[in-house]
Amino acid sequence: MNFKELGIITPILQALAEEGYTSPTPIQEASIPVLLRKKDLMASAQTGTGKTASFAIPILQNIVSDSNRKKGGRQPLRALIVTPTRELAIQIGESFTAYGRHTDVRNTVIFGGVKQGNQTNALQRHPEVLIATPGRLLDLMNQGYISLRDIEYFILDEADRMLDMGFIHDVKRIIRELPERRQSLFFSATMPQPIIELSAKILHNAEKVII
Ligand code: AMP
Repeated sequence: MNFKELGIITPILQALAEEGYTSPTPIQEASIPVLLRKKDLMASAQTGTGKTASFAIPILQNIVSDSNRKKGGRQPLRALIVTPTRELAIQIGESFTAYGRHTDVRNTVIFGGVKQGNQTNALQRHPEVLIATPGRLLDLMNQGYISLRDIEYFILDEADRMLDMGFIHDVKRIIRELPERRQSLFFSATMPQPIIELSAKILHNAEKVII
């Protein structure tokens, strides 16, 4: 199976070729068709398996292929990726930028531990994709810089690590602000009971992929 056979559109295929990706990894082969069908997904996969591309590619494609999306002009914030660390957030942002370089979908990355000025300036340029750590996301939501009202795609990355780092209450607060109608993706390397319970609050009729 190659990316073309998975149904990936030309501008993204071109970017993947430029990245030197010749074939999808197992998690990509399993997840991409599910996500292109707009289904929820629960995936158990470690970093290093190609997990980031397994959600970034189909989310970019779903955004670009949406016939209701106006070309040009101001776009709403449609996709939110919540991840536990600054390093992961930056890496995910770089992946969206790379795979989306031949599309008009722009992303912004926000995380704590730095002044917020550059981040709030970037948010005022109306990205469609936001990658965030939980604390800074809630902080900027509370200050009115971010609204989740138009979110169509929600991705919770490394959920088990989120729990270990004490972010569970922050994550629950974020979930409460999301629209009911959305596509949700849940990634966790391990699936202990609290993680299964959290996933039940987020997902609807999810397909499961275990790598
Ligand atoms: P991740 O598991 O998302 O952290 O990805 C691990 C590494 O694999 C990253 O450096 C990606 O650029 C790379 N990668 C992801 N998908 C592919 C692919 N289909 N072919 C080659 N490299 C890939």
